[in-house]
Amino acid sequence: MVMVLGTDVHRFDRAVEWLDRWLADQPQPAPRCIVQHGSAAAPRLAEGRDFLDHAELQRLMAEATVVVAHGGPATITEARRTGHLPIVVPRDPGRDEHVDDHQQRFARRLDEAGLVHVCETEEALRATLDRAVADPDAFAVATPEEAADGTAPVNEAVRAVGRVVDGLTAARRRSWPRRRRRPRRDLRVLFVGGLGRSGSTLVDRMLAQMPDVASVGELVHIWERAVRDDERCGCGEAFSACPFWQKVGQLAFGGWENIDVDEVLRLKALADRTRFVPALALPRLSAQRRADVVAYTSYFAAIYAAVREVSGCDVVVDSSKHASLAFALRWAHEIDLRVLHLVRDARGVAYSWSKRVLRPEVVGDEQYMTQYSPAEVGVLWTAQNAAFGVLDATGVPVLRLRYEDVLRDPGAALARLRRHADLGERADALDFLGAGGIDLDVDHTVAGNPMRFQTGHVPLRADDEWRTKLPRGHRRLVSVLTLPLRLRYGYLR
Ligand SMILES: [Zn+2]
Repeated sequence: MVMVLGTDVHRFDRAVEWLDRWLADQPQPAPRCIVQHGSAAAPRLAEGRDFLDHAELQRLMAEATVVVAHGGPATITEARRTGHLPIVVPRDPGRDEHVDDHQQRFARRLDEAGLVHVCETEEALRATLDRAVADPDAFAVATPEEAADGTAPVNEAVRAVGRVVDGLTAARRRSWPRRRRRPRRDLRVLFVGGLGRSGSTLVDRMLAQMPDVASVGELVHIWERAVRDDERCGCGEAFSACPFWQKVGQLAFGGWENIDVDEVLRLKALADRTRFVPALALPRLSAQRRADVVAYTSYFAAIYAAVREVSGCDVVVDSSKHASLAFALRWAHEIDLRVLHLVRDARGVAYSWSKRVLRPEVVGDEQYMTQYSPAEVGVLWTAQNAAFGVLDATGVPVLRLRYEDVLRDPGAALARLRRHADLGERADALDFLGAGGIDLDVDHTVAGNPMRFQTGHVPLRADDEWRTKLPRGHRRLVSVLTLPLRLRYGYLR
């Protein structure tokens, strides 16, 4: 048997004592018990280890007949990955065992879903340990490899999700300098963020119909797809033939021919990557990183300013989605950054990524949009969404909306969004909203899903095909991988 209590600074002596007392009552020879106790006092009867490296932890779990865990998502996912239905004793903030009650809430949800056995009292733990010793098979589960389609990189996925969630909890615990209001910055940009296939193109199109808002689509792709490859603008013209973008290029750079795409991509590699997010979230940057980030974001600022000028709108919407770009933009002096964090149920996202979709913007060639496996979606969904939670904690104004709520009541969602972007009251702001749908005009967007080319009346309805079409194995896998954040976003209510 192995008990794993994680590495939190808060002591969790209670769990160690409960296990010791149970062991003392076992007939001899008592089962071998190893306790990774972290900051808690070492056990008297069980074998104690204060910390275990990851390889040792995996080995011990794989060899153990029963795993007892604290309520840390990483420990629980690791236990399940090694084939255990873990017995979970969550840390209790009321006894100073953790900063908040997320372990209790998380563990209770998993228990309701049949994924763990929660024990919140000593009596419950004793009874459950007795059952586990008498019938270990009842505490075994199929590993994700067995449960899913076999070859998916599930191991790495489960570990990655555990790390992200634990990292998120740690990041939110730090205190950040609050910089909510920055009047000096007058270039107001609404950045739409989240994992792809979360409905960002639809929300982007709705925003673009407002008379005081200009949307540029997914600007992060402009350098390669538009400036270099001359793909189609949302208006249907090739980028180089679109009068709107020609004006913007003139104003921003004296013409797009003055842009050295390789130079922008070189800066992107230094400033805008998911693995830089933790560094970009800090209150200070190194001088070199700061220089790279400012150089990179100045290209975006030039475009936003020119778009505002050419369109005559107050707010520019950029639906680039990637958290790393939003983190870079928070360092741009001239930009008053507001973020919409759009989330969608991970199962719907996974289903969408599994479909094969032709890219209509590519001229004279057949290209398909990227596809991701359910395990990959589980990791990406958690990482991207967690990052926007951290961005919120750094002081950037972030409004989180669920795509499902936008579809249910677009008027209310868009009204909240207008307040978030400091767009004034105006009677015609939502005129494009009709009965059961929206009326779309032509927009000059540079990248995004094929919906950006649609015009005229578009019906709005719940997008839940995944409920019947996503295979059960995939659904179960995505559900487990994304559970901590789906819980946070209210998807389990
Ligand atoms: Zn255009």
